[in-house]
Amino acid sequence: MSKRKLTRRQAWRIQKIQQERSERAQRRREPAAELDESNLGPEQEGLVVTHFGTLVLVESLAEQHERKRCHFRSNLGSLVTGDRVVWRDGSPYGVVEAVMPRRSELCRPDPYGDLKTVAANVDRALIVVAPYPEPHYSLIDRYLVAAEASDITPALIINKCDAVDDRIRDKIEQMEQLYRGLGYHVQRVSASTGEGMRELADYLKDFTCVFVGQSGVGKSSLTNWLLPQAELRIGELSERQTGNHTTTNAELFHFPGGGQLIDSPGVREFGLWHMSQDQVLENFVEFRPHLGHCKFRDCAHRGEPGCALQKALEAGEISRQRMNSCEQILDSLHSPR
Ligand code: GDP
Ligand code: ZN
Repeated sequence: MSKRKLTRRQAWRIQKIQQERSERAQRRREPAAELDESNLGPEQEGLVVTHFGTLVLVESLAEQHERKRCHFRSNLGSLVTGDRVVWRDGSPYGVVEAVMPRRSELCRPDPYGDLKTVAANVDRALIVVAPYPEPHYSLIDRYLVAAEASDITPALIINKCDAVDDRIRDKIEQMEQLYRGLGYHVQRVSASTGEGMRELADYLKDFTCVFVGQSGVGKSSLTNWLLPQAELRIGELSERQTGNHTTTNAELFHFPGGGQLIDSPGVREFGLWHMSQDQVLENFVEFRPHLGHCKFRDCAHRGEPGCALQKALEAGEISRQRMNSCEQILDSLHSPR
């Protein structure tokens, strides 16, 4: 007992020290001293397109889409790519005065295991799969559940449709059918031949999107197809200005036909870091009507008598693949990472 108390107390102390440190750092960063308030322009709405060090790059929502490096007041907390803000132009820097409430947040843990928001206001997560590397239901379902839980609409993009051969054809068709049946948007495309790409551009055009999926499925190729080269220059810009590497910072790009892409290695790996068992279950969309109807309140849904999910599985209302995925995800939540 006493050991545990000590541990908690230690944890509390460490947390307090870290908090004080971060407050000190915030104060050091406070830009007020170098801001000439009398030279600031009127308040206007903007969009955070990337951040580097203590600055954010804000794009005006006015016609010209002008971009300006801005400080932000320390009481605003952390600003992330995709944030809508109120800002004022200034020289050499503008200043962000306020952040609008976020519609959605895409999170991942930092190296210390604390959850960190990496992008805000993402509407659609495009889960990219391909005939190779071979797609796995459990990975798709991980992304689907993570997106559902973050209030982001997921869609399944099957890339390399030019490379579907006899070996994989049936599996791809089954996947298409399963996820369409659940109400998800499913689309075949090829970044190589251009097949389906106009339709994809159409699907994205009114939204802020992210591409997620395992390495090698073609996320970079799809991005290159959809974005004019000029868009890819922001990274260089921020690097030049700060001397920092910016590869881990999410950046926002505009598709020429409308809509935006937020991209970074962290965004692409977005996952289920922070979920409880109940959250996972609730975000398997077809499980929802059955939850709370098991005979035992603490049902683990692993073959107990009177399990409503088991019944739905037997009745064909839940597919075997999705049930397997769910079990795998729940197991991974329990096992130490
Ligand atoms: P990422 O790791 O998800 O960003 O994947 P990449 O965009 O780097 O693509 C991985 C490999 O798949 C590269 O060799 C691409 O040329 C190839 N590739 C991408 N899209 C297609 C496609 O539509 N058809 C075919 N056949 N190959 C593709
Ligand atoms: Zn059950």
